Amino acid sequence: MKNLGKYWGYVALIVLISAWWLSEVGPLFLVVLSLAVTLYFLFQAPVWCGAMTRKNQFCRNNSSGLLLGCSNRQHKWQKLKLTVVPPKWRELTQGLWTNPSTCLATVATVLGILSTGAALVKTVMA
Ligand SMILES: [Zn+2]
Repeated sequence: MKNLGKYWGYVALIVLISAWWLSEVGPLFLVVLSLAVTLYFLFQAPVWCGAMTRKNQFCRNNSSGLLLGCSNRQHKWQKLKLTVVPPKWRELTQGLWTNPSTCLATVATVLGILSTGAALVKTVMA
């Protein structure tokens, strides 16, 4: 069970998707859950680092979340730099599709952001 704790965000994502189909769920619940899912995939989900190494290959070390690199400090810095420099976004997004779990995390992050926005609109309209 200890290992499963690392994957709670995937469960939260499934709950979130189901929650959108249930009209009884309050919009505030959707906002909170969407934010939790987004933050999980950005900072906690177990994925590959994906930073470009000097050999021009993607780093395959384990990392936590899409935004943080592996334990290699240079990679953390590289990913952070890629995030804040718009012309580098293409390079950054290439690293987001390196393997299936990274792809899933990327899709989940986009869904989380969209869901947060939609839930917020729903809250305001309610
Ligand atoms: Zn790395």
